[in-house]
Amino acid sequence: VDDVIAAVLRSSYGQSVLVPAFAGAMSLAGAQGSTWAVEGGNKLVCSGLLKLTKASVISARVTGISLHSSDGRALYQVHYESTEGQGSAFYDMVVVTTPLHPSRSNFTFENFDPPITDFPGAFQPSVTSVVHGYLNSSYFGFPDPKLFPFTSILTTDTPDLFFHAMDNICPVNISAAFRRKQPQEAAVWRVLSQQPLDKHQLKTLFRSYYSVQVTEWQTYPRYDATKALPPVVLHENLFYLSGVEWVASSMEMVAVAAKNVALLAYNRWHQELEKIDQKDLMHKVKTEL
Ligand SMILES: Cc1cc2nc3c(=O)[nH]c(=O)nc-3n(C[C@H](O)[C@H](O)[C@H](O)COP(=O)(O)OP(=O)(O)OC[C@H]3O[C@@H](n4cnc5c(N)ncnc54)[C@H](O)[C@@H]3O)c2cc1C
Repeated sequence: VDDVIAAVLRSSYGQSVLVPAFAGAMSLAGAQGSTWAVEGGNKLVCSGLLKLTKASVISARVTGISLHSSDGRALYQVHYESTEGQGSAFYDMVVVTTPLHPSRSNFTFENFDPPITDFPGAFQPSVTSVVHGYLNSSYFGFPDPKLFPFTSILTTDTPDLFFHAMDNICPVNISAAFRRKQPQEAAVWRVLSQQPLDKHQLKTLFRSYYSVQVTEWQTYPRYDATKALPPVVLHENLFYLSGVEWVASSMEMVAVAAKNVALLAYNRWHQELEKIDQKDLMHKVKTEL
């Protein structure tokens, strides 16, 4: 546990083995060989899905959602601001797909009773440094860089260790002629750490480097502090999808949650309530498989 599981959790969620079991299992699933990547980059998943749904997209930042009613039915006014100024539109149904937690939430809810406020819990800050340079293989016990055999470096929970993991990364578009750099060649490494790396730390990991690009994120929920999961239904036809990240954060989890929220919203809208929270569902699912 302290060697393998701890190392994988530090690399994926930047956290210790104190995370709940399901988050740990998700983290281990991501550490196995059968993971996938999208040619061209994961962002193509979003643009591809938008194209398939023929959705009408308004490129704007949502600033708030206010509740109105029409013929006794809830109507949600979504307020937004874009380069063209402020605007709003009315919807019968709304799905919120960004975290509603203090460090990430950036819009408000109005006229709801009881009020909808941010949910408790904190996010784990994390820093990704993409470094183009020559690995200092001596630091990892290989004085001859040519003999360094690894493309990923994991770490265990060690006091004062300044990074969580490092990976030698490939471009998102790989041609047939692509080959990984030899260990003694300059390569692109992704370094994950809790704090930005200072010059001394960079010089510890790399003999020399050409460039460093740093991104600081509020990445994953702090799983060791998770008390309860946020609700999925915020109001009659107002749903919240991102709460599933508090079970375990991954693209797959969010995709499953998105499908479930779509089914829930459909069944509520069409009053097919017997399809929601079916008592014998577990049995059905088991026998189906
Ligand atoms: C550094 C990092 C590495 C990760 N690595 C992996 C990995 O290897 N594999 C994996 O499966 N998962 C990974 N994840 C997790 C994965 O990115 C998330 O689970 C996934 O992106 C969640 O998808 P989402 O659509 O729910 O939310 P997001 O992808 O967070 O999308 C939310 C969108 O809402 C927009 N938004 C926020 N507020 C507003 C507003 N007020 N108005 C309008 N738009 C708004 C944001 O700009 C964003 O585009 C990683 C996450 C991070 C941060």
